Amino acid sequence: MQQNPPGPIEVRRSRKRVRTVTAFRDGDTTVVSIPARFTRAQEREWVHRMVTRLAAQERRRRPSDEQLATRAAELSARYLGGTASPTSVTWSSKQGRRWGSCTPVDGTIRISTRVRGMPSFVLDYVLLHELAHLLQPGHGAEFWALLSAYPRTERARGFLEGVSFGEERGGARPDDAARDDGHPDDDDTDGDDLDGDDVVARDDLADEDL
Ligand SMILES: [Zn+2]
Repeated sequence: MQQNPPGPIEVRRSRKRVRTVTAFRDGDTTVVSIPARFTRAQEREWVHRMVTRLAAQERRRRPSDEQLATRAAELSARYLGGTASPTSVTWSSKQGRRWGSCTPVDGTIRISTRVRGMPSFVLDYVLLHELAHLLQPGHGAEFWALLSAYPRTERARGFLEGVSFGEERGGARPDDAARDDGHPDDDDTDGDDLDGDDVVARDDLADEDL
């Protein structure tokens, strides 16, 4: 499993920021935003705290193949009455622009490693999407009816659409042509917020009596 590289840490001091500290990854760089009035000691303490918290959050969001299969079984039981039972569910780095794919004949599901690190409601949606394809190959009404019990389908589709939009704006990827899994045009709707990627500390800070 991929670990977070100990890349550079950039501390941003903001006068507008009063009682919150946020941290997020920008490529290899970890950006920590702190109130401008923080002392050096507070800066050190909070950078350490936020980097630790960010790493813990990312570990939670990067389950192993085994955890992926367990999660798929839970989702099938909860939203599909247990009717979809894949033989394997694994991460795959060969999905091109697809978020996932399945092979109904042998019951295998692959989830793109691009989904790793996304919020869990998005991963759940991608898993459910492929689970539903074990039951329904196309994207017809019957297919979407299978997903209707999952309350965050539209939100997750919006999230993924936003990611795709950002990638397209960032330039074409070499694997753009790889888009043929028998159910093309996976997942397209409007964008959504990405604030789930930030770690924000608020309550802790209030306790510090700044
Ligand atoms: Zn699909």
